[in-house]
Amino acid sequence: MVGYTGDNYLRDDTICAPFTPPGKGAMSAIRLSGPEAFAITDAVFKPVSKTQWVERQLNIGEVRDGDEIIDRPLAAKFLKPNSFTGEDVVEFHVHGSPYIVRRVIQTLAFHGAREAMPGEFSLRAFMNGRMDLTQAEGLADLINARTEAQHKAALAQLSGGLREKVGDIRNSLLRLLGAVEVTFDHPGEVVEAESIEPAPVIDNHIADLKSLIDTYERGRLLREGLRLGIFGRPNVGKSSLMNRLLGRRRALVADEPGTTRDVIEAPLDIAGIEMNLIDTAGLRTEATGLEAAGQELTKEEIRDADVKLIMIDGSFSVTPDDIAVFSQVTEGKIIVIINKIDLPQAIELADVEMLAAGKPIAKISCLTGEGIGGLLAAIEELVLSGEGEISDLIITNSRHHTALSGALECLHNAASIFAGGFPEDLAAMELRLAIEKLQGITGGDFSEDLYATIFSEFCLGK
Ligand code: GDP
Repeated sequence: MVGYTGDNYLRDDTICAPFTPPGKGAMSAIRLSGPEAFAITDAVFKPVSKTQWVERQLNIGEVRDGDEIIDRPLAAKFLKPNSFTGEDVVEFHVHGSPYIVRRVIQTLAFHGAREAMPGEFSLRAFMNGRMDLTQAEGLADLINARTEAQHKAALAQLSGGLREKVGDIRNSLLRLLGAVEVTFDHPGEVVEAESIEPAPVIDNHIADLKSLIDTYERGRLLREGLRLGIFGRPNVGKSSLMNRLLGRRRALVADEPGTTRDVIEAPLDIAGIEMNLIDTAGLRTEATGLEAAGQELTKEEIRDADVKLIMIDGSFSVTPDDIAVFSQVTEGKIIVIINKIDLPQAIELADVEMLAAGKPIAKISCLTGEGIGGLLAAIEELVLSGEGEISDLIITNSRHHTALSGALECLHNAASIFAGGFPEDLAAMELRLAIEKLQGITGGDFSEDLYATIFSEFCLGK
């Protein structure tokens, strides 16, 4: 893949790329954007109707390479600035053969268009003020959304929720900074300026930033998905639970202990949240060789999983290996599962309750499916407990989280400077820094490298 470099992006040439996925389909779409978009189109595309092109409507015509007709596509013109990129744009809806797409791109290139790099259309939209950085990032997240929660969070960001919130805080800090600077620029003078009491304004914004930052833990989980690990001694039914939750056979199930020696992962959507379900090698003290190596991987997973399911077998009484599992899986969000409730139960509930020490306990049968609904509800409750609606504004992006945390630190500093009666120009410096950090979220004074990192993660044609 061609990457961005200082030389080959932020140019004002005309670019083209398919913006539908590669491969065969009924239709494929190609976007052409830049100052020469209409001239290049005139050279390759002849509308069938003799009347003038109607802007923003699909016009049928022929794409030719010299005398050869390549396709009879539909094409739509968008005059700048009312286009996706803010430039003159033509979109071609060609028949979806990879050969046709390649030929049309080659023809456009022959007439002066350059093949776009991933994210280059969005980069131009951003440079031309069609959207800010948070919206561009929201758009990329929207395209990548695999679950309801990811979709909602991305849509909220794309509609400008974060931009507005951050913009409001920034504007209010700018006003405060103005008022502070006036007092130390003109000491003792009476000047026309807004008089603002700094402490309450700063405290308010500290609270605003904190509540945004607090959403990140959940936002990160929504965006990246979370790891749901199943732990237990061999043969309690871990692989069976994985297969039951996935509704298909993914992991091998066997009567013989120690069959799962690797860590097996599969994606699963619970309550709109993407979970990576992880079946681990059973933990037992006697393991040797490959099985012992598998247990090392399990131990890593015990550390990394966001939600941990400890499984025991209800048809047995608690064993020393069960107790060892409880002593290893101690941190984080944990649910205890008693499996095989379809069999005569030998387990003492009091023993399990003691080991669980207040953690939720779910009773299930992987064989019959009993209790699986309750387990899913318990997982959902554990992941979302005490949180607001998914559609509320939440921070999902680590870049935003870093900037907000930086701004928060500056506001804390500014607050202490004011409270301690230190020189106000020091506080002004902190306020200015906080403003810069907030500006960076929507698109501040960035290096080309940073733009490159953000936009090159987009797919081709976006
Ligand atoms: P793992 O080693 O913990 O992954 O356990 P498996 O999923 O391989 O299951 C071990 C054995 O227990 C297999 O013979 C399964 O068919 C059986 N098993 C798993 N879940 C249940 C259940 O809910 N009820 C009954 N009766 N058998 C089960």
